[in-house]
Amino acid sequence: MMAIQWFPGHMAKARREVTEKLKLVDIVFELLDARIPVSSANPMLDELIQQKPRIKLLNKADMADPAATARWLEKLSGGNTHVLAIDAQSGKGLDKMVKLAEQILEPKWERMRAKGIRPRAIRAMIVGIPNVGKSTLINRLAGKNIAKTGNTPGVTKAQAWIKVGKTMELLDTPGILWPKFEDKETGYKLALTGAIKDTILNLQDVSVFGLRFLEKHYPGTLKARYKLEDIPDIVPLFDHIGRLRGCLRAGGEIDYDKTAEVIIRDIRGMKLGPLTFDL
Ligand code: GDP
Repeated sequence: MMAIQWFPGHMAKARREVTEKLKLVDIVFELLDARIPVSSANPMLDELIQQKPRIKLLNKADMADPAATARWLEKLSGGNTHVLAIDAQSGKGLDKMVKLAEQILEPKWERMRAKGIRPRAIRAMIVGIPNVGKSTLINRLAGKNIAKTGNTPGVTKAQAWIKVGKTMELLDTPGILWPKFEDKETGYKLALTGAIKDTILNLQDVSVFGLRFLEKHYPGTLKARYKLEDIPDIVPLFDHIGRLRGCLRAGGEIDYDKTAEVIIRDIRGMKLGPLTFDL
């Protein structure tokens, strides 16, 4: 599923494709991962979108810490930025997308009406990094499976529109942009949420980051999941989890790679409940 390695050539091509699509739309839905609303943003999107109206969608809200999502909704909203929390998989919150877009574009539509121009459908597109749920959302909004799931930056082809209700048309293919590569921490968060390939980072490093993050921000959850009274240092903590989960080598020593995988799988699979990593 996550096949893209973002080389400069791919980035340039993705930027060109998004730029072309942007010319066709009135408004942009920027899809973000509610667990990492900052780390899942493309660093270049502001520059590409410029003054075009934008709605930030915090997707996978079902997997994020609800209190943190509430804080992010408040923090990110304001001025020209509009934010909604959604769950594309179940369809939760999607009804608000069209209504908010209509509301944002009302002044422009009003000006068109005043000039005697017959109102047309609002044209919109979805933009986001791989695996953030773009195809899932397009399929949901379309009501049938017409958008392919997958991340290959598309070969240029004729743009098709999907009708969303009576008032909106959505580009059937999303704009795919690369994630941030700025610092280690962002990389670990992207890895923990499944946004980048597992081969890019060392899995023990990712799991250590995850455990330390949980220790700091969700200690009760960490203790409960791994039956801990106190949280020990990282090596005994790995030993404990490895033993608990049967990650052992033939001689009975702890298999740290396997343990790391188990920890990451637990986090991604919501075995520690809903979590937010950008706090
Ligand atoms: P894309 O690469 O942005 O098109 O992402 P996909 O639509 O292929 O989704 C990536 C993965 O996230 C898939 O396994 C989806 O089932 C899952 N997913 C998408 N939206 C949600 C959501 O709102 N909640 C949850 N829990 N999973 C989601």
